[in-house]
Amino acid sequence: MSRRLTGKVVIATHNAGKLTEMRELLAPFGVEAVSAGEIGLPEPEETGTMFAENAAIKAKAAADATGLPAFADDSGLCVDALDGAPGIFSARWAGPNKDFAAAMARIFAELDDRGAADRRAHFVSALVLAWPDGHTELFEGRVFGDLVAARGTAGFGYDPIFRPDGHARTFGEMSAEEKHGVDWQKGQGLSHRARAFVALSRACLASGS
Ligand code: IMP
Repeated sequence: MSRRLTGKVVIATHNAGKLTEMRELLAPFGVEAVSAGEIGLPEPEETGTMFAENAAIKAKAAADATGLPAFADDSGLCVDALDGAPGIFSARWAGPNKDFAAAMARIFAELDDRGAADRRAHFVSALVLAWPDGHTELFEGRVFGDLVAARGTAGFGYDPIFRPDGHARTFGEMSAEEKHGVDWQKGQGLSHRARAFVALSRACLASGS
């Protein structure tokens, strides 16, 4: 039986794009959310080798530091023909200046180097909810699609080059609502983060809209 979340929660991220999306997803649930960045928590080192491990490191660090339940998402883009890279290194490929144009160019350069025609890729989101007493809940979401030449300026990170299956437009060309694609009644979402969040909300949050 999953534990229910009530009251205040820390969103353990310093990534503005993720923070916006987590707040949008939490909005229907009446949970008060503060971010790790806003309350000056340091960013823990992500020493895990899997998304779930890194999400747990971030969520536990924030729960321990604040005495409040904390959410963390560890996510990234996995490219089939690059053996899953950049994967957990998705943020690091953009370097200290968070240059995602360079990170997206590197993906295509590495595909060209390998002579790979395969453009299949998927995003993964591992969402961990950690309480100060050590209890944790983990939810994962994935969305599969193709890499295309960058289109659109919405979203963040690798959104402009990812076209999810069944859609003509990239995440970079979608509104936030379309990218989330949440149907609370059906318990479905489109983006990896929305899919993980819908599962989490069903298990741990009071009620959706
Ligand atoms: P981390 O989870 O903080 O290590 O960073 C994950 C990185 O993956 C982000 O900085 C983005 O580069 C990328 N990423 C994760 N989710 C998304 C998304 O929804 N759209 C685009 N890029 C994403």
